Amino acid sequence: MNSIASKVAVVGSGISGAVCASTLAKNGVSVTLFDSARGPGGRMSRRREISEDGKELLFDHGAPFFSASDDDVLKIVGEWEAKGIVAEWKQSFGAFDFASKGFLNIEQEQASKRYVGVPGMNSICRALSNETGVESKFGVGVGRIEWVDDEKSWSLTSSDGQQLGHFRGVVASDKNIVSRRYTEVTGSPPPLDLSFAPQLVAKLQDIPVIPSFAVMLAFAEPLSSIPVKGISFRNSEILSWAYCDSDKPSRSSTSLFGSERWVLHSTAKYAATVIAETGLKKLSSETLTKVAEQVLSEFQSTGLEIPPPFFMKAHRWGSAFPGASIAAEERCLWFGEKKVAICGDFCVSPNVEGAILSGLAAAAKLSASLSLVHSL
Ligand SMILES: Cc1cc2nc3c(=O)[nH]c(=O)nc-3n(C[C@H](O)[C@H](O)[C@H](O)COP(=O)(O)OP(=O)(O)OC[C@H]3O[C@@H](n4cnc5c(N)ncnc54)[C@H](O)[C@@H]3O)c2cc1C
Repeated sequence: MNSIASKVAVVGSGISGAVCASTLAKNGVSVTLFDSARGPGGRMSRRREISEDGKELLFDHGAPFFSASDDDVLKIVGEWEAKGIVAEWKQSFGAFDFASKGFLNIEQEQASKRYVGVPGMNSICRALSNETGVESKFGVGVGRIEWVDDEKSWSLTSSDGQQLGHFRGVVASDKNIVSRRYTEVTGSPPPLDLSFAPQLVAKLQDIPVIPSFAVMLAFAEPLSSIPVKGISFRNSEILSWAYCDSDKPSRSSTSLFGSERWVLHSTAKYAATVIAETGLKKLSSETLTKVAEQVLSEFQSTGLEIPPPFFMKAHRWGSAFPGASIAAEERCLWFGEKKVAICGDFCVSPNVEGAILSGLAAAAKLSASLSLVHSL
């Protein structure tokens, strides 16, 4: 099973890559999963912070939860629930209007179930990347993915020049691996040159991205004047969502000390304005502090009695959401001759469910092509 004939590299351990890797492994493929980040999760990551007085604070600073309606996704989510890595977050959400300074509505019943990873959103990707048959390598940015014609295989090199091995197939689960944006951010050419498949290049170029800032806050006391645990905001230029992160299932035991933790999401417009001024380079701590103060100040201007937090920090998501779905029907891009698949939320829909569906589709293409398993 470890021969190159059934070895596949999956680049990216966000939910699409992690689902793809674990599905391939279940189908008997030997998978190596690479991520440039220190741990799995991508935009379902969890952030660990330490406050000035030494409190450990954990935040889901990317996707706060997800919903699902597709039968295949619901089946997988059911399996994750049975394994204890997913739970339903049963709380009321409401819509707050800045124009009238009041709640427009507070939901009596959830329209659809909200699922969270437990104890953190990254728990799902962590469990998938630990499954038998998946070898995971974190802190490894893939810098080059080259086709070796003699061997009919892919050779991977890390961004610091280390040889990462040869693989029969490759899955790229981040559009930056194949797009000009990689060069804008790093100054280097994108790792995978798709010039052998111009039809794919055309689809992948210039996918619009929607940015957001997440502002992580910790309060010494619960915000008891807020009647809900999730708020969507109307008529604000700055604030789009607020979630009580520490209210989610299995969260309180993950903090060594009691505190109520909230995560605020800025509007795309606000984030785009900041990015227009600063570019995509690493932001200074002054800029991040200014963003955190502005977003918090907007939250406080609701009049909802929000005291000063003892911790606050902003995180920029330059591409929080894709602004287009480029393979809504096929669910992933596929070039069979060279066994290369490209998956991610940008293929199907800008959310966790879309990313899961895309990861499943990429795994199905590769499994069938490697002639190991023909049905998933
Ligand atoms: C602030 C915010 C709020 C959100 N809210 C919701 C929500 O309420 N509900 C919902 O369903 N979804 C939400 N989402 C969207 C959701 O998080 C994404 O749709 C989903 O997580 C995307 O998964 P993915 O696998 O496609 O991509 P990603 O999670 O982005 O994974 C790509 C991975 O590839 C890795 N990578 C990239 N290049 C390389 C390289 N060269 N070498 C190695 N590794 C590499 C990255 O480090 C990353 O881990 C939100 C996202 C954000 C940021």
